[in-house]
Amino acid sequence: MATVTCYRCDSDYRDGRVRCECGEPLWYDLGAAWADRRDAPGMARYVDGLPIERLDGIAAGAGGTPLVRAAGLDAVAGCNVYVKDECENPTGSYKDRGSAVAVSKAIERGTETVGTVSYGNMAMSTAAHAASLGRDCVVLVPDEIQAVRLELIAQYGPTIVQVEGDYGKLYPDALTLNETLPVEFLLGDVPSRISGYKTALYEIYESITPDAIVLPTSSGGFASGIWRGVRDLEAAGVLSTPPRLYLVQTAASDPITRAYRAGHEDVAAMDPAEIEETIAHSIGNPDPPSGARALAAARATGGEILSVTDEEIERAKRQFARAGGFCVEPASATPLAGVEKLSERGLVERDEQVVLIPTGTGFKEMGVEPTAVETERVVRGDLAERLEAVLAAS
Ligand SMILES: *Cc1c(COP(=O)(O)O)cnc(C)c1O
Ligand SMILES: [Zn+2]
Repeated sequence: MATVTCYRCDSDYRDGRVRCECGEPLWYDLGAAWADRRDAPGMARYVDGLPIERLDGIAAGAGGTPLVRAAGLDAVAGCNVYVKDECENPTGSYKDRGSAVAVSKAIERGTETVGTVSYGNMAMSTAAHAASLGRDCVVLVPDEIQAVRLELIAQYGPTIVQVEGDYGKLYPDALTLNETLPVEFLLGDVPSRISGYKTALYEIYESITPDAIVLPTSSGGFASGIWRGVRDLEAAGVLSTPPRLYLVQTAASDPITRAYRAGHEDVAAMDPAEIEETIAHSIGNPDPPSGARALAAARATGGEILSVTDEEIERAKRQFARAGGFCVEPASATPLAGVEKLSERGLVERDEQVVLIPTGTGFKEMGVEPTAVETERVVRGDLAERLEAVLAAS
């Protein structure tokens, strides 16, 4: 039987527990395993290092995303850019790696109904994985939610519950509901999810040995998974120098950056009154449950935690598309905005290989934030002539 351990105090517990006595989130320490399964698709090649027997349903389509050499982004980033394109997952975000393991694990334990607290990628991902395995899913969303978001989640058929009141408090509420109701809420830092996230790191190392990896961070779950992967490869003797992990937050809600700058080991929750609106709505968590672990990941690997403004995010999103050909959501543009700053400060160098991880697709976002689009208008008879003029002018 697998056990779960605490990165901070090394305590271990029986499988099923989520947090340590010390308050920190737990993870599985199962090591890296793939040598015998090179031909298995997606995440299945690493199943021996995951806390489940098999990946069924849509989980078979999670992971295995491309690592694209994106030379068009080198000039902006100030280094050799590789894009680990997590937008290519079944529901368009890296969350599928976590749901693939977490939903399967819950079902192995006999859970009939899974749940989650999210109105974005986590909700879609959990609902899709549950649907593909014939299980019910309960999604708790805020009372005030845009119709397009409801539609994106509702397509997978979960029970959607709109909750009035402080949405930020639902994390502890959900842990209590797990104890009292026949539903298992799979939140952002359950150990099974974190183990799924580590597979993104393994995949990167099957292609290149990067100097640094840059990713968005909110609750700290994904960063924890990437760090777990690094530690597995170190333990396996596959890598001696870890990649520097640079974690990027939105300046509108950046409790982990604040703790980093202050030299703290723990992350203080931000007061909801301090939180500003941000276009990067997927990374606005003011009270990150895996925040301290994300801090530890950046420090242990010689990386850093930094914040970028909405204006910088907007520009990076455009550059991702226009110089790279990638359609990413605003939260996922933060690594490009972040690496630009890091190279300006001399922390990332021109000849280095740096992996940026756009965590979620921008296709879902279309119509959410209306933008003006410029076009040329012509009548068909004039097309050749007008197009010639347009091409000459561009
Ligand atoms: C959830 C999410 C994040 C943040 O991941 P955490 O594990 O909460 O740090 C980043 N980008 C996208 C697109 C997400 O959906
Ligand atoms: Zn502990």
